[in-house]
Amino acid sequence: MQTEAELTKPAIRTIFERERCRASALFAHWEHPFTALSFNRARRSYGHAHADGRIVLSNTFVGTSATTDLEDTIRHELAHLIAGIRFKHGPRWQQVAASLGARPRASGRSESSELHEKMSDAPFTLIAVMRDGEERAMRRVFRRARRYVDYRYGKRGQRYHIGGDFIERFEYLDHRE
Ligand SMILES: [Zn+2]
Repeated sequence: MQTEAELTKPAIRTIFERERCRASALFAHWEHPFTALSFNRARRSYGHAHADGRIVLSNTFVGTSATTDLEDTIRHELAHLIAGIRFKHGPRWQQVAASLGARPRASGRSESSELHEKMSDAPFTLIAVMRDGEERAMRRVFRRARRYVDYRYGKRGQRYHIGGDFIERFEYLDHRE
């Protein structure tokens, strides 16, 4: 198990700014000129574009490594501002979204299981107990996995680590309790 770079809010804002500049270079006229980026706690939607030019992203992205999904969501929402929100996901939006490099109808779907689980109300948190006893929360998950339940550092087989620090065992925190 390798940890990947986790997205922070400043990192998300940097990626957003990069995508917005790209979009501005490609499209001079925006039906809704961009005004501001903010975050909400939505768990069912990754992003939303408003007629007043605001784009709201779910803070679900924070702490994940779902950069591809983030970029896709940003392009999706920017395309709404450029094409006009009233046109929804019609041909006009599709044309703009394709120019920006968004996967069609990407919002609401995800290739990142990590993000998918976080978006849902997954009942468990997988916790890695390090060899020195430190506990690190890994991610929200739907079910306990045998390979983590049965894993012990001393046992034969694969040894999991986080950035070179070996994991002694795993535990699950049950949020339904
Ligand atoms: Zn949309």
